[in-house]
Amino acid sequence: MKSKFLVLALFFAQLATAQSYQKVHKKALLIDSHNDILSKVMEREFVIDQDLTGKTHSDLNRLKKGGLDMQFFSVWSDGNQKNPYKYAMRQMDTLDAVIKRNPDKIVKVKNSKELLKAVKQHKIAAMIGVEGGHQIEDDLKKLDTFFQRGTRYMTLTWNNSTHWASSAADETKPGYQQPKGLNELGKKIVQHMNQLGMMIDISHVGEQTFWDVINLSTKPVIASHSSVYNICKHRRNLNDEQIKAIAKNGGVAQINFYPLFLDSTAEIKFDALLNNHKEEFASLMKTGLSEYVAGDILVKKYSNEIEPLRPPLSLLIKHIEYIINLVGVDYVGIGSDFDGIEFTPQQMDDVTSYPLITKALLQKGYSKKNIYKIMGGNMLRVLKANEQK
Ligand SMILES: [Zn+2]
Repeated sequence: MKSKFLVLALFFAQLATAQSYQKVHKKALLIDSHNDILSKVMEREFVIDQDLTGKTHSDLNRLKKGGLDMQFFSVWSDGNQKNPYKYAMRQMDTLDAVIKRNPDKIVKVKNSKELLKAVKQHKIAAMIGVEGGHQIEDDLKKLDTFFQRGTRYMTLTWNNSTHWASSAADETKPGYQQPKGLNELGKKIVQHMNQLGMMIDISHVGEQTFWDVINLSTKPVIASHSSVYNICKHRRNLNDEQIKAIAKNGGVAQINFYPLFLDSTAEIKFDALLNNHKEEFASLMKTGLSEYVAGDILVKKYSNEIEPLRPPLSLLIKHIEYIINLVGVDYVGIGSDFDGIEFTPQQMDDVTSYPLITKALLQKGYSKKNIYKIMGGNMLRVLKANEQK
C-alpha cells in the first residue's frame, strides 16, 4: 500500500507540472500557420465571434483560450470555383468584418513588428494565407492586391494544379500528362512573391514544383500544413530530402494535425467508413454542399465510428520529433489545419487543446527555449527573413 505521504507528494508533483506547462504555454508565442475557419463559416453561415463549440474547431474566444497569439487564416477555394479571386476577396471581407466587430480581441497585422505589438496588447494577430495559386487567376496585380490585404503566404497550388505549377495530387496521379513543376509564369510569380515579402508555401505542391521553388526562391519557404512522409506515406507529406532542403533553405515545416497525414492506416479506414454511408453522403452533396462540408456533417453524426480512427496525441508529437531529429529544432512548427480537417487526434479536440502539445513536449524533456521555437519562434524567424528587402 502506498503511504499517504507518497500519494500527497505525487499529487503535488502533478499539480506543479500542470501549472508549469500552462505557464510555459502562455509565455510561448504560438503561431498556427493554417486554419480554415474562414471558408467554413462562409459555407455554413456561421459567425466566428459566436461560440461555435461542437460545430467547428475554432471561434474567436476559443482561439484566445488555447493561448494562440497569431493566426494565418486560410483563404481557400477548390479548382471548381468559377470566380476564385472574387470568392477569396469575400473571405478576406469576412475576416475584416470580424476584426471590425472585435477590435479589442483581434487585429490584422502586416509585418512581424505589428505582430509583436498585437501580442503585447493581448490581441490575436491575424494574417492571411492564400491556399491555392488559382485564386490569383494568373494575374500578378491580383497577387499584389492579396498582399495589400494582409496575405503573407500563398500556397502555390491546392490539390488542383494551376496553369503554372503542378500539385502533389496531380503529379502522383497515374498517367498524368501535363508538364510538372513551375513554368515561366510560375517562376515569375515565385520571384514576385520574393520581392513582395510574401512567403512561398510548398504544402500541396508536387515534388517537381517543390524542387523548382527550392532552386529559385531567394527567401526561406514554408510548408504551412504538412507532416512527415517517412512516418505516414501520404502525398501531402514531406520526405526526408524535402525536409533537409527546407532546413538548408532556412525555412520551416509546420506539422498538420490531420489523422490521415499522421497515421498511415487511417485513410483506408476512413474511406471504408465513408463508403458505408455513401448514400447519405450523396444526398448531402445533392443539396449543394461541397464534398468537404458533407464529409464534415457525416463525421459529426457518426462520431462513435470515428473515435477509433483518432490517433493518439503522441503520434503528432512523433512527427514533430522526427523533424527535430533529422534537421534540428529550428525547422518545425504548428500548422494544425483546424476546420480544414473532419477529425483530429485524440485530445486535440479543438483550438483550446494547444497547451497539451506544450505539456507533451515538456514531459519529453524539451527546454522552454526549444518549445518556444516550435510553437512560433521558427515561424516568426521565417516571416522576418521574408520581410528583408
Ligand atoms: Zn490544405
